[in-house]
Amino acid sequence: MRKGRVLFALIIFFGLIYAVYQYTPIFKPNTIEIVVKSPKAYFSANKTVNIAISDKTAPIKSIKVELISMNTTIKLFEKQFNEPLVKQFDVNFKPNKVIPQGKAVFVVSVEDYSKSNFLNGFKKVVQFPVFVDSTPPKVILLSGVSRIKIGGAALAIFYVKDTNLKDVYLGVSRDGVVDRFRAYNAQTIFGNPNVYLSFFTYRLSKLKNYSTNIYATDEAGNLTIVHVPVFYTTPKIRTSRINITDEFIKTKVMAILEHEGIPKKETLLGDFLYVNDIVRKQNYAKVKEICSKSESKILWKGRFSQLFRSAVTATFNDKRFYYYKGKLVDVKYHKGYDLASVRNARVNAANSGRVVFEGYLGVYGNTMIIDHGFGVFSLYGHLQSFLVSVGSYVKKNQYVAITDTTGLAGGDHLHFDVVVDGYYTNPVDWWDYHWIKAHILNVIDEAKTRLSLLNQ
Ligand SMILES: [Zn+2]
Repeated sequence: MRKGRVLFALIIFFGLIYAVYQYTPIFKPNTIEIVVKSPKAYFSANKTVNIAISDKTAPIKSIKVELISMNTTIKLFEKQFNEPLVKQFDVNFKPNKVIPQGKAVFVVSVEDYSKSNFLNGFKKVVQFPVFVDSTPPKVILLSGVSRIKIGGAALAIFYVKDTNLKDVYLGVSRDGVVDRFRAYNAQTIFGNPNVYLSFFTYRLSKLKNYSTNIYATDEAGNLTIVHVPVFYTTPKIRTSRINITDEFIKTKVMAILEHEGIPKKETLLGDFLYVNDIVRKQNYAKVKEICSKSESKILWKGRFSQLFRSAVTATFNDKRFYYYKGKLVDVKYHKGYDLASVRNARVNAANSGRVVFEGYLGVYGNTMIIDHGFGVFSLYGHLQSFLVSVGSYVKKNQYVAITDTTGLAGGDHLHFDVVVDGYYTNPVDWWDYHWIKAHILNVIDEAKTRLSLLNQ
């Protein structure tokens, strides 16, 4: 009799422990996990809602996604799992419905089949405030057809409006590569905070399948793409032969390697190829970085000027074939103009602007870069010294530097580039007032007219 009672008490005792373990939330915690990948702070009905739901211990029973706005609750997604089988589920859908714009609360509720919590299962709710914006940015092109001789520059002007604009740029895609050109706010010209402009170029390309568009995104991820019509022509490419001598490598190339702290390669040719390829690419990358910040103003006036009393010894996009001991060893395009004057000639600023860089830049040697505003820069290479300091505003034709042979220069000359947002363009255009008038000044005037007709 006594033994039986003890056994009975033990059964009750362990039964109780089992019940407490199994059905109360003391030992088994709520393991529902909700990770909202999108939306974040902004919500767009046109953008995919992406939520990863998982439960380590119990299958999922139900999922509900809602948006509480003002005094209405909008059901966005609902799913019931009739069988306790699924422990992981990705919610992935586009709401595609009319949702009132403005403040709202995004709510995700998930229940599981856990026996714990007295057979009711667990529930987890994740909620956070969002701003509903399903309207993509309004983008209107204010400039007409842009005309480019490949390698040259063009200007596009556009009106962009959105309550929470995040990013706007002009993209030129070709051969699967997109060149991004900054869109500068052009209020200083148009007196309107919604007008932007981009200077852009068409880089030389084999396939010539260029496509030019303005891309505007808002904080909610709504994207507007507007096509920019461009009429382009292909220039003739000049070729030139450059003979690389041991003497040139031992003096010019070695000086660059030393300056950059790069160890010598096994052969003299190896040294040359390293500088002409790797160091050159690093220099271009540095120029692109320097030219990524510019004033949102036109700092220049009239045509750009060439180095005084200079002769042109190399032109833009010349295809250069480098020969060493009679053999072709490298091919590169020349990104600017070579201008020769007297030895140690004084360099006049091509136009008014602000000096943003002075320093040693590998193949360019001692280099100066002047910002002319809205992403347009002029670059002066192979210099001896600088006559003005970084940060100073210079006037057109003011003497700013002295020429020399620093960097990869055989003789004393100035290497001159015009750089648009980090991309090289043909200086000849900028030296020509007719080009400036037709491609920049008239484009601005036409845009002003279109803007005045715009129903904003
Ligand atoms: Zn050059």
